[in-house]
Amino acid sequence: GIGHDISAHISLHEKLQILAERDGLTGLFNRRHFMETAATQVAQAQRYEQPLSLMMLDLDHFKSVNDTHGHEVGDQALVHTAEILRAGLRCSDVVGRFGGEEFILMLPDTPLEQARVVVERVMQTLRSYPLSGVDGGVRITATVALTEVKDTDDNLSDTLKRVDVALYQGKAAGRDQLVLS
Ligand code: GH3
Ligand code: MG
Ligand code: MG
Repeated sequence: GIGHDISAHISLHEKLQILAERDGLTGLFNRRHFMETAATQVAQAQRYEQPLSLMMLDLDHFKSVNDTHGHEVGDQALVHTAEILRAGLRCSDVVGRFGGEEFILMLPDTPLEQARVVVERVMQTLRSYPLSGVDGGVRITATVALTEVKDTDDNLSDTLKRVDVALYQGKAAGRDQLVLS
């Protein structure tokens, strides 16, 4: 009924905002909105000398998940991953879908060692909850890069370059692992 239809309770303006800022499949921030939000966080963290950590997560062998189980199951795996990410975070954390099977997370007021605990928990959850209902469960793993924003980072792209390199190293070293940088 109407009482249960959440869309009846939000204004057109809010609906348009959600469409513009969020990824349609997972409901996470889209890349553009993530970048805007994250840039503000970086500026704030540097001004107030607060720690800020950035994580990039890329699903392993995702092409073969699609090839083996179909694109629809691939989509389900993306939603599944987004849910696990969201469930493990604080409300101040900013999480986005950065690209196809790439997710990005910014943890305000969080030094690297503390972020590492959060990220390792997310990876463990991903390993212990295979995508249910499909061929007896599809195992999903991810390679993850984690860094802390430094004073010497001029902007977000300096920080992103570091996680990019670390991600590449994690893939080359066999995937399903966390690389700190
Ligand atoms: P690696 O472990 O090196 O990351 O290998 P990979 O197969 O995950 O990486 P690659 O970049 O070769 O392939 C990414 C795949 O992700 C290819 C593309 O079909 C799939 N993909 C990207 N976006 C979506 C999407 O929205 N839905 C589905 N089902 N698949 C997607
Ligand atoms: Mg990728
Ligand atoms: Mg991948």
